[in-house]
Amino acid sequence: MRLIVDQDLCTSCGLCIDICPEVFDWNDDGLADVILDPIPEDLQDSAKEAQDECPVEAIVEP
Ligand code: SF4
Repeated sequence: MRLIVDQDLCTSCGLCIDICPEVFDWNDDGLADVILDPIPEDLQDSAKEAQDECPVEAIVEP
């Protein structure tokens, strides 16, 4: 599975990084980004939870 963060939508709330820091981290622009591509199977549930919880639905499939 693959996910990306829509950089135009991310508001830097940090929720995805709190929920799944193995997959999401800050980039140089101060926005969240996906740091594992593809996302390993054992992290997919956590990454999906982060996707569901993103308040602006910035985490999407590429
Ligand atoms: S949860 Fe959404 S808005 Fe918040 S930092 Fe992550 S991608 Fe950005």
